[in-house]
This record gives sequence, structure tokens and C-alpha cells, in this order.
Amino acid sequence: MSEKIYDVSADWAKRAYIDDAKYREMYAHSVKDPNGFWGEHGKRIDWIKPYTKVENVSFAPGNISIKWFEDGVLNVAWNCIDRHLEKRGDQTAIIWEGDDPSESRHITYRQLHDEVCKMANILRTRNVKRGDRVTIYLPMIPEAAYAMLACARIGAIHSVVFGGFSPDSLAQRIEDCDSKVVITADEGLRGGRKVPLKANVDAAIAKIDSKDSGGVDWVVVVKRTGGKIDMNPTRDLWYHEAAEMVTTECPVEHMHAEDPLFILYTSGSTGTPKGVLHTSAGYLVFASMTHQYVFDYHDGDIYWCTADVGWVTGHSYILYGPLCNGATTLMFEGVPNYPDNSRFWNVVDKHKVNIFYTAPTAIRALMQGGDEPVKKTSRKSLRLLGSVGEPINPEAWEWYYRVVGDDRCPIVDTWWQTETGGILITPLPGATKLKPGSATRPFFGVVPEIVDADGKTLDGETSGNLCLTKSWPGQMRTVYGDHARFEQTYFSTYKNKYFTGDGCRRDADGYYWITGRVDDVINVSGHRMGTAEVESSLVAHEAVSEAAVVGYPHDIKGQGIYAYVTLMKGTEPTEALRKELVAWVRKDIGPIASPDLIQFAPGLPKTRSGKIMRRILRKIAEDEPSSLGDTSTLADPAVVDDLVQNRQNKK
Ligand code: ATP
Ligand code: MG
Repeated sequence: MSEKIYDVSADWAKRAYIDDAKYREMYAHSVKDPNGFWGEHGKRIDWIKPYTKVENVSFAPGNISIKWFEDGVLNVAWNCIDRHLEKRGDQTAIIWEGDDPSESRHITYRQLHDEVCKMANILRTRNVKRGDRVTIYLPMIPEAAYAMLACARIGAIHSVVFGGFSPDSLAQRIEDCDSKVVITADEGLRGGRKVPLKANVDAAIAKIDSKDSGGVDWVVVVKRTGGKIDMNPTRDLWYHEAAEMVTTECPVEHMHAEDPLFILYTSGSTGTPKGVLHTSAGYLVFASMTHQYVFDYHDGDIYWCTADVGWVTGHSYILYGPLCNGATTLMFEGVPNYPDNSRFWNVVDKHKVNIFYTAPTAIRALMQGGDEPVKKTSRKSLRLLGSVGEPINPEAWEWYYRVVGDDRCPIVDTWWQTETGGILITPLPGATKLKPGSATRPFFGVVPEIVDADGKTLDGETSGNLCLTKSWPGQMRTVYGDHARFEQTYFSTYKNKYFTGDGCRRDADGYYWITGRVDDVINVSGHRMGTAEVESSLVAHEAVSEAAVVGYPHDIKGQGIYAYVTLMKGTEPTEALRKELVAWVRKDIGPIASPDLIQFAPGLPKTRSGKIMRRILRKIAEDEPSSLGDTSTLADPAVVDDLVQNRQNKK
């Protein structure tokens, strides 16, 4: 692992909300006195009726119960819109950048208010009430934000399903939470290609109807492309037509702190997606506070998170966190490589983006295209960079820092999960020295603990399984409709603590390094090793673009190391290169880490959010292609066939 350290510059320490001394003081307070700490910070949002209680949490077996600010009353949409109107009604809330580089729009807080009220009134006139579930299956257009905030305004629970999901996956998610209303668009637009959203909704509903179990009453359709679609006159309505029949006045519903805000299904990289439930107040306090401090957001900054609203990152860090803070947030409809590999940086220059937050999968893909598409853009406006979604290997980190950030912008490598609602382990740019590949230190109120397989707490410099011993306000409250699964998944492996499912190393400075899923920790001749370490080493070789490492049964070592390697464009997959890569890892980490088998793979199986699905690679390496499990969340199922056919070491 990289041992390079990047100090906090004097400028950053001075301008940021939080320097190192402040971090230590606030962290100590948050852990010693959570009620006092969060009782104070809960005031950052507006309350209709203030809370008198702060934390009320039990992680006890058989009684998992998580409540924050429980007797407070508020409305999330009010906090994200109405309370800003007086001071910043004419400020841009959302900059929308279309798939086509010639299309963009600025939406002010006042316009946002009016649009959200219209959408909310459309739902109210269709009899949607507080507590009802609404499925949102939209592309990255402003109406996605309107729809989510409209639900929050009237107390309905939204379930956003990423527009890249198939009719089957959509049907499964509509049924799981029994949504009576679906909001969609005629078609989506990504990278110049059309996505048949409405047709997918029709297919999903046909599937649900064939089972005669409930069904969808209303489909609201936003016109995006004007493409030809079927409209069912008793069920489907055009958004633009319905919007003409309603006003821009819509009183907010008074919600209790613990009333559900949304359900979101995890990305499914480890198995069947779980319906993660988040509630109102704690989530909003945590999302807005992390957004302010982690990105050091100041009034007037232009902030861009490239995630899709279909993922939790889009919920917390495109929408709820930034808007609650009165920020200007950029929403991008397109993809990083359309019309070409300079797109991200052209958008940065066009809108003078100051803070940029993306995923390692995008960074690695752009890295493969070389420095030139980046270097020909200015990027002078950039001040801070962020990463989320997977461990970022030091090689990609350095490229992001050096080429994208011109050695000027700190990188916040933010570790968190759909389940955690917001960022839990992360640098703060004015406080934390950076080590490429490390998510560094816990955010306020977060208490990580590393345990071994038997649940024994490991102190000091160590590695093992990552747990969290204390609750934080943004924590998920349950798996929708299945509290037993909630307890089973997160609280049964280790008693009285939340188990993240991730492997982790803590170094001598107390920094945390996420090493991948616990399932992905390999045991080679008694040495435990995170897959991320071997992958980082492989990716550091100039011929390698991406790598995924899994274990497989090995007669002598117990587990052997199986590496799937995607080469840089134009590189020949030769036997000599294979040997070179083995020698490379051996020299870099040590003989224990040298891959036993290397398979050159033109593509790796990824979730639609861009994460490598190692459990599939493990099954292939173990020669069990018939038990791949749930592959419905794969972005491109076709890569699997190639991988199975070219498996190494065929018996
Ligand atoms: P599922 O839970 O259905 O298997 P998923 O875990 O991929 O899907 P998410 O909630 O989107 O769904 O992802 C959270 C996981 O992503 C974390 O548990 C961790 O493994 C990984 N992750 C996120 N951010 C980072 C980061 N900065 N460094 C390392 N790993 C990260
Ligand atoms: Mg997960």
C-alpha cells in the first residue's frame, strides 16, 4: 500500500470550517456525549415542533430499535426549499446539464418550489397520502428532483429505481413496497442512446398484473424525448398536462422525525437487493451536516456529484444534503465518455464547478483514455475532489490528484453505504492529512471497531471486519417490511454492534483502509489478505486498466489468488505479460500475494452503479458457473459468458 502522505495546506486549514484541532475536539465531544452533540447539531434544520429527546437506540439482540429526535415534527421538503426562499429565492438550486452538451438549465429555489408543489398536487389529487409508496423511475432530469421532493412534501415514501434497471427488476421493486403510483418518462437519454423507460414500466406492470396481487393505479409520464410510446387512458397521465390543472401552492405535511422518507434498494453487489428504509429528521441532519463539512461547502460554491439519483449517493449528495444547505447542485443526465472523454472536465469549465464528487469506476475508465482529454481543459475552478463507491486504488487516486486536480485539490475518499445514509469514514479537507487509498478517519459520532471472525475486538494496528458500535442519526431503521432481515443481516454476526460487511485495516496512525467485502478477504497459507491490496498492485502496472481478485480452492495453500485483469487499450494479452504481472505483484507486496492464475478479461461484471461483482468472479474461479446467484443487477450480463469460457486452469 502507498505510504505517501499529503499534508493539509495552510490555506485549507485556514479557510475550512474544521481544522485538525477542531476535528479532534468535536469528535471527542460527539463520542463522549452524543445527546449533547447531536442535540446541538439537530438545530441546523428547521422544526415545526422542536425535539426534546435526541438519541433512543438499542442494538440489543431481539430488540433492534433506532430513533433520533423522535418527538420532533418537521418537513424535509420545507427544509430543502421553502426555508431558503426569503434569502435565496433567485439563487440557482439545480444546474441541469443534459446528455447533449448544448442543453443546460438553471432552476432557482423559487422555481424549484413551484415545480415541486405542482408535482405534489398532482400526487395529492390522485389520492396519494402520507405513508403511501411512490416508485420513481426517471432519468437524470429535474423532474426526478421534483418527484422526490414532492413525495417528501406530502409525506409519501419514495422508492427511486435506477433507470438502467430492467422491467423485471423494476417489477420486483414496485411489488416489494406495493407502490400504487409510478413516475416515469417516455424515454431516457444517455450517451446519445435512448432508454425505453415507459415501455419498461408497461412491461413491469404487465408482469405484476399477471399475478393479480395489487397493481399500479397511476403512471405519471414526463415527456423527455417525445419518442413514441403507448398511453393507457385509464392509468397513464402526462405530467405536463396534469401540471396545468394544479396550482403552485401546496402546504407541507407535518411529519414526525421517525416517519419514513424513502426506501432504496442496495446496488446488489453481494446478493439480492435489500429495501433500505430511511426516516426524516436524523437522515436530513446527517446528510446536510456531512455535505457541509466533508465537502467544506460554502455559500456560492458550485457543487457537482456525478452519481445517479437512483443510488443513495444521489439521494444524499445531489439532493437532500446540498439543498438542505441552500447549495447550488449540478445534476448531469449523461455519461463520462459522451460525446468524448473530456465531457466531465468540459462541464466543470462550463459551470465553473468548485467541488467534484465521483466514483473510482469512472476515474479508472477515464484514466484508460490517457491524460490528454483532461489536460486540454482548464479545471481552474476546481478546489476539492471526492470519491465514493469502492476502494480507490492508490494508482487511480494519484492520477485523479495529479492529472484532474493539478496537484492542487485535496481528495476526500468517502466510505459509506446505502444503509448508513451518509458518509461515515472520510478525510475533512482542512483537517486530515491524506494517504492515497485510505478513507482515513471517522466522521463525528462514528465509532468504528475492527473485530476478528469470532467477534473479538482488535486494538491498534490491525485488520479484520469493520463494525460500528454506536448509532448515528443517518443510520437505516429497518429493511422495509422485514425487520427480521434487518437484524439478521446487520446485527446477528456480532452482538450489540452494526456489522458493515466490509473488511478493513487500521494503520499505526489510526487511519482506516477498506480492503473490500469480508467475503473478499482471502486466506493464503494462513495469511489474510484483502483483495483490494492485490488489485491495487496490479493496476499500478502500466499495462493494466482494471483488476479484480478473488480466492479459489487451492490444494496446498487453502486458497489461491485468482486475478481477472483488463488491459489498457491496444495491449496484447501475452504469456510473457502474464508472467511479468505475477513477478510485479510478488515484488510489490511479497511472494504470498503473487497471483496463482491470471485471466485476461475484456470486461468485468459490474453492478449498474459500476461496482465489480466479485461474488460472480468467485463462482467462476471456483468453477461453479451454474450457481452465479442473482445477476439481475448486472450492467452487462454478456461479459459473464466470456469469463466462463476463458476460465483459467480448466479441469
Ligand atoms: P449490496 O449491499 O446489495 O451488496 P452494495 O453494498 O454494493 O450492494 P452500496 O450501499 O451502494 O451497495 O455500497 C456500499 C459499499 O460500497 C460499502 O459497503 C463498501 O464495500 C463500498 N464502498 C463505498 N464507498 C467506499 C470507499 N470510499 N472505499 C471503499 N469501499 C467503499
Ligand atoms: Mg452493501
